[in-house]
Amino acid sequence: MELCSGQMQSLLPYTLGGLIPKQLKVVHGPGAALPLTPVAFLDLAMELASATLPISAKMSKPTIFCATHELLRMRGSKQDLLDVKAEGGDVRVVYSPLDCLAIASANPECTVIFLTVGFEQAAHADAMAIWQARRMGLKNFFLLGCRINSVALIKRLLESDSKPDAILVRPDLCFVTGTKELEAVARENRIPIVVSGYESEDLLETMLIAVKQLEAGDFGLKMQYNGDLKKNGDVEAQSLIREVFELKDGEWRCLGPILRSSYELTAQFKRFDAGTLFDAERLEFAETPSCISADVLLGRSTPLECNNFGGACTPLNPLGSTMSCDEGSCALYYKHSRSTTFNTD
Ligand code: SF4
Repeated sequence: MELCSGQMQSLLPYTLGGLIPKQLKVVHGPGAALPLTPVAFLDLAMELASATLPISAKMSKPTIFCATHELLRMRGSKQDLLDVKAEGGDVRVVYSPLDCLAIASANPECTVIFLTVGFEQAAHADAMAIWQARRMGLKNFFLLGCRINSVALIKRLLESDSKPDAILVRPDLCFVTGTKELEAVARENRIPIVVSGYESEDLLETMLIAVKQLEAGDFGLKMQYNGDLKKNGDVEAQSLIREVFELKDGEWRCLGPILRSSYELTAQFKRFDAGTLFDAERLEFAETPSCISADVLLGRSTPLECNNFGGACTPLNPLGSTMSCDEGSCALYYKHSRSTTFNTD
């Protein structure tokens, strides 16, 4: 199982084209935090973004809603940020939450909100922004965040009845946390975990390493990636994250509850939480019954096994989480289906 949408893009020409030996089945995990983001959270994001519309009276101050580009097409139950922007909302694309500090500082009469979805790197960037906002005395900067603990997520994937034989991990997942915890997960679960580069040749070599480990009964963490990764990770980043966030139980789309998996602002920093700006209406949402996104996220099925794929369900009309963002497995399969001949044997 690979866990990175970027790596999936490098692998798809091989897996879809049948260039990998038939004995080797490559399945895709969540790929990113976006497909796991609860719809209720996305609806709240759309409500806050809609507060930037000229006709909106939800907020007492003019509002600027900021997000990184990959979040623009994440769909709530009714719309995405591109829809809100098309209606005239002040939705701005930024590179990081630190960019929002400059916007907040230059627009003291406005409420500035940054939307964030990700793992530890996102938590670190958010923690830096909050720490800096406090130092600058900014009262108009807020975060709306969905941040997942990557190790808790990997443990959940390994509890599945479709537990993979080996896991490929992208390096940036270890930049903050280091490799120590994943090493422990590999040993406890008797499974090879290989940290891999992003290119096709990296991934093919990574698969070879994992297969050799399985054949030798060598369960532990191995490195294919030859960049600088520390066993203990970035301890300063970890310290800052611990200062600003606490780990709480999270409830994720398609996967359900995972213990201590959600980075939530501590009471000391709660005033930066955009979720407290107004009482958003909670919209009822039910997943499409015929959507098998949960199976896709757990590696039980590939998107090609879904009857809706490419017909009733496309990126323009997504029926489930793995089609509703650019980093979801179904959306990536759809993108590559135009240039690759499927081998579905
Ligand atoms: S193709 Fe659409 S309906 Fe099928 S699993 Fe993917 S998101 Fe769900």
